[in-house]
Amino acid sequence: MKFSDLRLHPDVLRAIDDAGYTHPTPIQRSAIPRVLAGKDVLGIAQTGTGKTAAFTLPMIHRLLKETPRAEGTRALIIAPTRELAMQIDENVRKYSAHTDLSIGAVVGGVGESPQIEALDKGADIIIATPGRLSDLIADGHGKFGALEFLVLDEVDRMLDMGFLPQVKEVTRGFPRKRQTLLFSATLAKPVREITGHFLKEPSIIEI
Ligand code: AMP
Repeated sequence: MKFSDLRLHPDVLRAIDDAGYTHPTPIQRSAIPRVLAGKDVLGIAQTGTGKTAAFTLPMIHRLLKETPRAEGTRALIIAPTRELAMQIDENVRKYSAHTDLSIGAVVGGVGESPQIEALDKGADIIIATPGRLSDLIADGHGKFGALEFLVLDEVDRMLDMGFLPQVKEVTRGFPRKRQTLLFSATLAKPVREITGHFLKEPSIIEI
């Protein structure tokens, strides 16, 4: 199977071409069609399998195809660490380079003012770590009332680091009618237990 068989938006295919990817990895082959079909996904996969592109490419496609419901952030990706969030941010920028989607990173350890700006203007895609995101949302920042996509990456690590209460708190007011993608390296019991909270009839992909 080639990327061109996956019916992705031409602006996404151009970015894939720029990256030099020719064939989707196994997780991309499984996840991309399901995300394109609007399904919630529970992906069990390690880093290095191409999982970032597996969720960001079809997400960008759908953001380009769908009309925003209202003003505000359309997709939020939460990752447990700043390093991972910055890696995802870099990937999202690369894969959306041929679009006019706006992107913001909201992570700890760096200045808040550009992050507050991204939250308040409702950047189309926000990549965040739980601590900084919950601090800034508690201060009244962010426009998530029309959110279409929620992605939780490396949920097993998020649980180990004790971030679940913060993630539940920040996502509490989000629209129920949205697509949620959850990734974890393992399907340990604590991970299984939270899937029902975030996912609706998920498609399970194990690589
Ligand atoms: P990830 O698991 O998302 O961190 O991806 C691991 C590495 O594989 C990253 O450096 C990606 O740029 C690269 N990559 C992702 N998808 C593909 C693909 N289909 N073909 C070649 N490289 C890829």
